[in-house]
Amino acid sequence: MAIPENPHHHHHDHDHDHDHDHAPINDDDFSTRYEVLLETAIRELLDEKGILSNEDIHRQIDIQDSRTPALGAKVVAKAWVDPAFKAALIAAPLKAINDHFGLAIQTPLELKVLENTQALHNVVVCTLCSCYPRMLLGIPPAWYKSIEYRSRVVVEPRQVLTEFGTVLPADVEVRVSDSTADIRYLVLPMRPSGTDGLSEDALAALVTRDAMIGTALPLPVA
Ligand code: FE
Repeated sequence: MAIPENPHHHHHDHDHDHDHDHAPINDDDFSTRYEVLLETAIRELLDEKGILSNEDIHRQIDIQDSRTPALGAKVVAKAWVDPAFKAALIAAPLKAINDHFGLAIQTPLELKVLENTQALHNVVVCTLCSCYPRMLLGIPPAWYKSIEYRSRVVVEPRQVLTEFGTVLPADVEVRVSDSTADIRYLVLPMRPSGTDGLSEDALAALVTRDAMIGTALPLPVA
């Protein structure tokens, strides 16, 4: 199959989701057609050579689809009820998660868990683009990728949190962690008060996606 030359540099990194493309030189139709052709050609070639079958690709898509904030919420709830798991999670997050939940999350990226305390509240951003702990939370929300969030949260985190409806006591330090190409962050929120009798599943239901990004707190007990 003949493939036209890429009209503009278009960096692709599946875990990275760069949305800060350079200004396109050609029109979008051409670019889209190019990428569809390229994807088809590479996929057919990989299949032909026995490197990556359609089945492999579909399995990978299934894995991606299984990564939703519900997975992150289970991890947080487990950390709330099991101090040994929490220690293991903070020491070696992916190993602890794979071991405990019987998963096989494989990534060259480093995952770090940032624990919130009475004195410290963590917020995650990727100022450069939209790096996000997809292995645990799936696809990032649109606002996470917005220039407004990325530029403002590092400069005025308290104000941004307030706009999300998250007002923290003045004596709590707000720390913003900027993701890099190699590191992903997951916020471990504080367990809400009044949840002593709750099951792990009921606790997980309180852990929202935004609580694991740090722009929100876990839901209060209903
Ligand atoms: Fe990024």
